[in-house]
Amino acid sequence: MSNKVILTGDRPTGRLHIGHYVGSLRGRVELQNEADYKKMFVFIADAQALTDNFDNPEKVRQNIVEVALDYLSVGLDPSKVTIFVQSMIPELTELTFFYMNLVTVARLQRNPTVKSEIAMRGFSKETEEGQEKVFGSGLPVGFFTYPISQAADITAFKATTVPAGEDQKPMIEQTVEIVRKFNSIYGETLVEPQILLPKNSACLRLPGIDGKAKMSKSLGNCIYLSETADELNKKVMSMYTDPQHISVNDPGHIEGNTVFTYLDAFCKDEHFALYLPDYANLDELKAHYKRGGLGDVKIKKFLAKILNEEFEPIRARRKEFEKDIPAVYDMLRKGSQTAREVASQTMSEVKNAMKINYFDDAALIASQAEKFRK
Ligand code: ATP
Ligand code: MG
Repeated sequence: MSNKVILTGDRPTGRLHIGHYVGSLRGRVELQNEADYKKMFVFIADAQALTDNFDNPEKVRQNIVEVALDYLSVGLDPSKVTIFVQSMIPELTELTFFYMNLVTVARLQRNPTVKSEIAMRGFSKETEEGQEKVFGSGLPVGFFTYPISQAADITAFKATTVPAGEDQKPMIEQTVEIVRKFNSIYGETLVEPQILLPKNSACLRLPGIDGKAKMSKSLGNCIYLSETADELNKKVMSMYTDPQHISVNDPGHIEGNTVFTYLDAFCKDEHFALYLPDYANLDELKAHYKRGGLGDVKIKKFLAKILNEEFEPIRARRKEFEKDIPAVYDMLRKGSQTAREVASQTMSEVKNAMKINYFDDAALIASQAEKFRK
């Protein structure tokens, strides 16, 4: 067993989608089953979700159990993985506050994920000179600083390994900087994490069904894990392909064609024998599409079959877990208790390092007493 501590989380802003699945969930289940780690944590980032949904707490509240059900249905096993709710661990908020001293406003403004998420939510505007006005009206400080809270989440558990999609890379870099700065000022205390990206490049950032750069709950361009087969089929049939591929005989483009990106993420050679025996593999299918003479409907139907095959057992497991919702909450409560013990141990190490352990430091009290006796 290695000394790896694996940690990752998701925002309860909606049910989880197939982008989460290929970008992170599938890898987590593999890691869990390889069992080559010391500890593994998976958490529901409700406090982070509130940074841009502070006016809609009901949405966050409703989605806690949805995300938990998605975890259980893809195969995360609470007997192997500590599954918890972020806001139940007050140490994470405490750490965030202390880490804020270690990060400049300019550094946060440069964080590419923060920049794009701020733009996506309409908090930044282009000025006449074409410069981004990051401090657009309405940008909440909490949202602006969420990378710092992510650093707290990761370091509180001394995570070494964070399985995540490519959009999280700048977040991990920011965490590493905070760890280095903390350790250089206060002494070796925190552990530097590494991102664990999916090996398949189509999975790094799965586009939405509208062809937009990222499938994202906030963009409404998702195929959810818990979608019924009917809903999934409809969404696949409406997917963005190649706008220049108007009639079947036109040569088609693969680059930027969402259906092919999804096939890259999900398709295996054996799917051809099962569902599309005219081709031996994806390369042959792509070659035909590029030559012309292959219609979008045919490849969409093929994709829908592959997705339904992958997600049918997941949907069935979800139905089982949905029968006992109190048990799901109970699992989260127990996980949160376990997580809290770990985080509070780190918190006390942090406080010792930062010399804010006044009541536990007998030498301090004695030396102060001595000073005032004089
Ligand atoms: P929101 O729109 O609320 O930010 P989201 O859909 O972006 O939601 P998150 O909860 O922010 O989802 O992301 C959780 C994890 O899933 C992260 O590790 C992220 O990198 C990964 N992930 C999210 N969307 C994708 C995607 N389209 N492709 C690959 N990985 C993804
Ligand atoms: Mg996101």
